[in-house]
Formats: sequence, C-alpha cells, structure tokens
Amino acid sequence: MPEFNQISEASLAYFKSILGEERVLVGEQISPDFGRDELTFKPVMPEAVLQVETEEEIRKIVLEANAQLYPLTVRGQGTGLVGGAVPIRGGILLDMSKMDSILFLDEDNLTLSVEPGVLLQDVTAYVEARGYFYPPDPGEKTASIGGNIATNAGGMRAVKYGVTRDYIRGLRAITPTGQPLQVGGNIVKNSSGYALKDLLIGSEGTLAIITQATLRLLPLPKESISMLAPFSSLNQAMDCVATILKSGSQPVALEFLERQTILDTENFLGKKFPHSTSPAYLLLSFDGNSKEHVDQEFAQAAEICLSQGALDAFIIDTEERKSTVWDARGAFLEAIKASTDELDECDVVVPRPQIAEFMAFAHSLEEKYQMPIRGFGHAGDGNLHVYVLRDGIDEKTWQSKRKNIMEELYQKAFEFKGQVSGEHGIGFEKKEYLPLLAGPEAVELMRGIKAVFDPNGILNPGKIF
Ligand SMILES: Cc1cc2nc3c(=O)[nH]c(=O)nc-3n(C[C@H](O)[C@H](O)[C@H](O)COP(=O)(O)OP(=O)(O)OC[C@H]3O[C@@H](n4cnc5c(N)ncnc54)[C@H](O)[C@@H]3O)c2cc1C
Repeated sequence: MPEFNQISEASLAYFKSILGEERVLVGEQISPDFGRDELTFKPVMPEAVLQVETEEEIRKIVLEANAQLYPLTVRGQGTGLVGGAVPIRGGILLDMSKMDSILFLDEDNLTLSVEPGVLLQDVTAYVEARGYFYPPDPGEKTASIGGNIATNAGGMRAVKYGVTRDYIRGLRAITPTGQPLQVGGNIVKNSSGYALKDLLIGSEGTLAIITQATLRLLPLPKESISMLAPFSSLNQAMDCVATILKSGSQPVALEFLERQTILDTENFLGKKFPHSTSPAYLLLSFDGNSKEHVDQEFAQAAEICLSQGALDAFIIDTEERKSTVWDARGAFLEAIKASTDELDECDVVVPRPQIAEFMAFAHSLEEKYQMPIRGFGHAGDGNLHVYVLRDGIDEKTWQSKRKNIMEELYQKAFEFKGQVSGEHGIGFEKKEYLPLLAGPEAVELMRGIKAVFDPNGILNPGKIF
C-alpha cells in the first residue's frame, strides 16, 4: 500500500481558493454519511469532503492530491453495497452530487449527455417524458449515474436489455495524474484500439473520475405486462427458466423470489403481496409495442410454467397491480435490512442451470451455522443476492460465522465457475475473494492497469485488490 500524507493547511487553503469555503467540509462539518455506504455499518471518515461542480475544479484538486500524495475517493450517492465509496485511507472524499445536470438530448443519435451526479430516477423521468427509454434498472433509483457507471450496475431488465455498460456511448474523465480523457463518443461502433471506455465502466473509481457520460437511449416500449408464478420448489421454478428462454420468448425481467423474503417485505411495507404461501416464485415481465405482442409473450410463458409444475400463473396487467408487485420486489433488500441489526451480502453470479443448487447450498448453511440466510435474485442472468443476518449475536461469533459462510459461498461459486459479483462490484468488502474466482493472473493484470493510470495509487486506494 502506498504511503500517503495528511492534508496540509496549505492544501486546504488551496482547495478553498478553488471551491470557496462552503464547498470544503472538514471536521464536524462532515456528516457520518460520508464515511459509509448502504452496507457499511462502521463509518470511516475522510479528512476533507470537497464538493465539486466542474471538471476544471476536479482537475486542479487531482493535480494537488497527486503531487502531495493524498488519497482521493470519489462518491456518488453512497448507495453502494461493498464499501466502494468509503474513504478507508482517509484523505479527500470527492462529492459528485452537485454535478447533476442533464446536458443535452440528441434525438438524431438517440443519446443523452449528463453530468455524473445526476440521479438514475431523474434520467428515467426526463427521457420517459419525451418518449425515450434508458433501460438499465438497478433497484436503487436514487443512485447517481456516475456510481452506476463505476459499478457497471445491473438490475432487473438485464435479461433482455443488458447492463449499464451496454448503454454508455462515451465518457469524459480526469485521470489520477490530472489528464482529461475522452473515451468513446456519440458513435455506435468502435474498433479503435483498446476499449478504454469499457475499462472505465465498472472500475469502481480506481482508474479515473468520470465527469460526463453520453447515454444510449431506445424508443420507449408502449406496452408491458407481468406474470407471477408460484412453484412448490425453486428447482421446479428454475427448470422453467431454461424452457422459457429456449422458447424464443424475450422476458425483460425474470426474477426468482423465496417465501421468507416475501414475508419480510410484507412486514416492512405493511402491504400484502398477491401470493405468499408457496416456497418459490418466478416473476416475469414482457414489453413491446403492441398489446397482442405482450399478451402472446405472457400466454407462452404461462403455458410453459403451468406445464412444468407452476401452481398458477397470475397476470399482472393493471398499473396498480404492477406497482404492488414491482415496488415489493424493489424493496427486498431494504426489507431484509430492516429485519435484522447487521448483515453481509454475497452478490455472486453463476451459470443459470446452477442457481437452484447454489440456493439449496446457501440454505444448507443456515442449518450448519444456525444463522438466518435470505435470498432472491435474477433468475434470467444467474446473479444471486444471498444475505446472512446477524440477528443480535455477539460481535466475535458474528465475525467468525459470517466469514465462514461467505468463504463457503464463494468456494461453491468457484466450483460452479461463477464470479464474485454480478453487479455490486468488489469495493473493499469482497476483495479477498477476487483472486479465487477471477484467478491470480487476472488480478495481476488489473494491478498493472491500475499502475499505468495511477502511478502513485492515490485514487480509491485499498479497493478491488
Ligand atoms: C436498496 C438498494 C438496491 C440496490 N439495487 C441494485 C441493483 O439492482 N443493481 C445494482 O447493480 N446495484 C444495486 N444497488 C447498489 C447501488 O445502488 C449501485 O452500486 C449504484 O451504482 C451506486 O451508485 P452511487 O451513486 O450510490 O455510488 P457510490 O456508492 O457513491 O459509489 C460506488 C462506486 O462508484 C465510484 N464512483 C461514484 N461516482 C463516480 C464517478 N463520477 N467517477 C468515478 N467513480 C465513481 C465510487 O468511488 C465507488 O467505488 C442497490 C443498492 C441499494 C441500497
């Protein structure tokens, strides 16, 4: 790990000369929220929070940080789940939330240029009001687009539409040595050398600071319909997934739900889910431009599910029903979090045919370690979210059981040729598992790439590896 310096009075005065007194926060001016993300339970505070508004301000701050060897961590909205935006080495926390403008809708190129601090929910509202569609749909709508890009956020529409990386045409960024960088642009294809844009996407604020993004849009589909199918086992449900996808049907979302998570969410929201007596469910949605098309997609998927053991196939076609079901699905993590005092998460991705076996293994650990485990996930893309709940046990036992369970889960993912993270990233919470699943050679290459971008290692130190 590089040796860093504490921020000097002279540098603080310099930052104030760039940003003004009010956008340089120190000491008690810094809220504990700046020391954590959504799954960090003990904050780690930065020495200074710098609230930037322009690329030029960022460039000057980075040049000073690099010259003086100050660690610098970028923060979007702090909704991450692996500690990516937590300033674990102290130093500067660069708060991007004031760079939140929507810059330019290019209707000929079907793109939208934005600053990185704009919220996902604001992008969605802006484009949908104009008949366009930004498909990436991670559950937390108050995350920033910069955070979504830096984690390559996924979400529930990945089966049909892909993930954030598939909707980024171009990026502007500042490297840790203070160089402005433009990668990609308002172009559809690009075979010009290494794919630097795609390298920055998912780099968790370790390679460069994203200062602007050009997002790819689609026309907004006119119709959608959803379906909820209860099953008597997750195995049965997952067998249907393969048949549905082979049938040529194109679900937008294909989620699996387990009963206990539905019950936690009913408690949390104080609302009933349409059905909650079966151990496993598939929740699907379809979209398109005509009612006939989505009705046909529904009918085909319902027939497959019913012929392969589904106990029913409920149609969800009114706006009210859709919001009941999808709002509940979107609240799963919050509901699980609210049901306990602390938790740890495993966001593995495994080949789709192994989902049921992986979940059965996860639940076997409940028995083995006498610890509650909850799960749900994206059946259509193999990305599972498994949570171990602390439920009030003492710190020493919690740390030891949590670690053992995580090690067993990642070992199983390794056996299934999966990966550590499907969408939340590595941050510092999951970095010990990366060499096992990605392989030591890949991690060594990543270190080399990091050194080229950031020779002094100032940007988000201690993350990913
Ligand atoms: C209830 C809930 C549901 C969620 N559901 C999903 C989901 O379905 N799918 C999913 O993928 N994630 C999900 N997440 C995780 C989280 O919302 C995403 O990781 C999101 O992309 C983080 O965005 P943020 O603005 O909060 O970033 P932060 O948490 O602030 O930062 C995340 C990482 O991005 C880096 N970063 C942020 N901005 C920049 C920038 N401008 N330049 C360079 N690096 C930057 C940070 O350094 C850090 O490493 C969920 C979280 C919650 C709390």
